[in-house]
This record gives sequence, C-alpha cells and structure tokens, in this order.
Amino acid sequence: VVPSALDKVLLKELCVIARRCYERGWSFGTAGNFSLRSTQPDLFWQSPTGLCKGELNPDLFLPIRISTGHLASSERCRPSGEMPVHLGVFRAVESARSVVHCHPPGVVRWSKNPAPPVFHGDEMQKHLGCHSHKEELAVPNLVNPTPEEMANFAPQVAEHVKPKVPLIVLAGHGVYAWGKTPMEALSYIEALEVLCATQ
Ligand SMILES: [Zn+2]
Repeated sequence: VVPSALDKVLLKELCVIARRCYERGWSFGTAGNFSLRSTQPDLFWQSPTGLCKGELNPDLFLPIRISTGHLASSERCRPSGEMPVHLGVFRAVESARSVVHCHPPGVVRWSKNPAPPVFHGDEMQKHLGCHSHKEELAVPNLVNPTPEEMANFAPQVAEHVKPKVPLIVLAGHGVYAWGKTPMEALSYIEALEVLCATQ
C-alpha cells in the first residue's frame, strides 16, 4: 500500500501542521497525532507512536483500514495509540479528510472544569459552525479513556461527533479537529484555543 500523488501532497502539508503544533508547545514530548484519509477507498494514513511531532515526514505514516481499524500492511513502526479516535472521526464524518490532535493549554484547562461552559457571545464561534456570536456553542467534551479503554474507543467518538462542530475534546487531555485539509483542521483548534483562553 503506497500513498497516491494527492495523498503525498497532503501528507507533506500535514507534517508542516504537525511541526507548527510542536513549535507552539501544543505537542511537546511525543504528544500529538495526525492523520489523513487516502484517495484510495477504506484507507487512512496515521502518524506513528513515540516520535517527536516536530520531525515527521510523509514516509513515516502508517496505512490503516477504516472498516477494521487494522494496519493495511506489515510495518516496522506502530501507529499512535490514539488512532481509534481518528478512526471514529473518519467513520462518522464522510467529509473529514484530515484529523489533527494536540494539547493546547487553554483547551486542556477549560476541559478540566467539572461542567465546561458553553460558548456564547464570542465572535470566534463563527469559525466553529455558529451563524453568529448570539448562538450557543457546545463542544463535545468526553471523559479521557485509559489506554485499555482507548483500544475500543472509536464507536464512542463516532457517537458524540456533532454535524456542525468540527472538533471533540478529551477532558484533561486535548482536542481533535478535522477538515478538508490539515490547515483547515488546525484553524479550528486555533479558534477553540482562543475561545478557551478568553473565557
Ligand atoms: Zn493526546
């Protein structure tokens, strides 16, 4: 299984976005994970576990079957342990082309509130599916799974995704956003970080 020509272009963009997350301090250590739906059916590319996300390259991404969640070929590396979240998004949102995950501090702080507030009255809500700042924006905030629970977490993710809101949060952990390109996905994370930091 090899990336198509368009896959390669978008995987390069995804590596640029991953480096941007790292340089901002949103994926220090080996945190953060990144994925891209292939132009080939039933396939997406997932970042590997463990590496510094400031130094990814397209050859490191691993092919995963959307139907099974299994590797589509034998590989030397393992996919990110958080791959099931990406899998849940790709199953639930047909238009999701790329999923970006990192740990922005404002979002993490907001998510640890026992009852994280809905957003209201903020211009930036318009970047996250609201028609105006007068609407309320409720971002899904799921209990962070243990590593054991994470292995079977894809159905829960698919269940909580909202049609108009292009991201979900895991409490005390971080945010996953999706879009037609990696750049678009990151822009949703930026909007949420601004919303959380200005509450
Ligand atoms: Zn994470």
